[in-house]
Amino acid sequence: QNHKNSKKKVPMPHSTSSGQLAAGEREDGQVSRLLTWLSATAIAFLVGIGTKAWFAGHETHAWVLWSFIGLIAVNMLHFASTGNRARQKAGMIVIVGLLFTYLIASGGESNTGPLWFYVFPPLLFYLTDLKTGTAVLLFCYLVAVVVFQFPGLPLVSAEYSMDFKIRFFAALTFESIFCFVLEASRLKARNELLALAETHEHAARTDELTGLANRREMQNRLTMEFSRYQRSGHHFSIALIDLDLFKQINDQFGHDAGDDVLREFAALMRTVIRQADVAARWGGEEFLVLLPDTSLLQALSLAERLRSQVARHPFRFRDQALPVTISAGVCSIAKARSLDDLLKQADLNLYNAKESGRNRIAPRVRSQESEPSPTHSP
Ligand code: GH3
Ligand code: MG
Ligand code: MG
Repeated sequence: QNHKNSKKKVPMPHSTSSGQLAAGEREDGQVSRLLTWLSATAIAFLVGIGTKAWFAGHETHAWVLWSFIGLIAVNMLHFASTGNRARQKAGMIVIVGLLFTYLIASGGESNTGPLWFYVFPPLLFYLTDLKTGTAVLLFCYLVAVVVFQFPGLPLVSAEYSMDFKIRFFAALTFESIFCFVLEASRLKARNELLALAETHEHAARTDELTGLANRREMQNRLTMEFSRYQRSGHHFSIALIDLDLFKQINDQFGHDAGDDVLREFAALMRTVIRQADVAARWGGEEFLVLLPDTSLLQALSLAERLRSQVARHPFRFRDQALPVTISAGVCSIAKARSLDDLLKQADLNLYNAKESGRNRIAPRVRSQESEPSPTHSP
């Protein structure tokens, strides 16, 4: 008999999640490291080119280049002391923008300064998002147009030929468009991959039929909770729940009815447990609930509440009322030596609950014994 029902999908939580945040954090760190490396390289270059200009007799040019070293150094030091990546990025963009504007306005060495501008579009799109990158790039375009059109402006000392200007802008435009398209498709691929990884990760942790945690996820949670208990003594309990005479439901009403019951029971259980509790489908019609910071008595009372709600809940399948009850074995970590032992004892208690008539919780404590516990017979 095939118990898996793959036709029914359980809705999955989407949009920005922990995985995406972690990826963003990783990328920010990468950008930051690249910027630090880039700053160091830029300083080395500026020292070299400035010295060359100095010996060529262009002393003002040399001094301007050297003062950019100061700006970059300040930006690096500021980042080193505050760790503010956004400032580091913005600072670097402004400095590089200023440097390129100066190179265009002054012409640099033999009017080749504007060529450095080609470094800007890829750097810009790598550092910022598409919108900011485009905005900054358009602004720089504007600066370049003004410098080219009005060579008489103060601080502007270079004059370029018409051919050079046309080629400069044409080539820069193509480069910018390619950079934009490449970056856009890189982002798209990245986001699709992240979403895919997210979906797979969620599916690996979730039971398809009920949307609860699956057995593997519960095993991880139990291990985590157990080490928390060993580390800091936080107690926890578990409840192993089994649907009573479930085979008969399948036999009388069909497998689909059985699946419906499993789903509906899972939904009901979700409304009864707390936010911090973890409910999992442990196997077939068996469920396990992990109750952190919960004593045996508290766990028993939760299990009892769940039992009575299930017994009262009208389970229906195609207008037929289904007789659904549960039995549960509860155990607290205080009574167990290990995780294995805890599970074994809960299982033993569940067996006892079944043996003493089903639709009940074990172990029974005195306060429970006074309540009548109706035995279910289909
Ligand atoms: P008990 O009260 O002793 O637990 O009786 P039971 O009939 O519930 O116990 P048993 O272990 O004999 O039968 C469990 C049944 O649960 C057998 C199986 O067909 C059914 N089952 C397990 N997984 C699924 C599932 O995913 N869907 C459906 N519809 N039935 C399932
Ligand atoms: Mg059962
Ligand atoms: Mg069973």
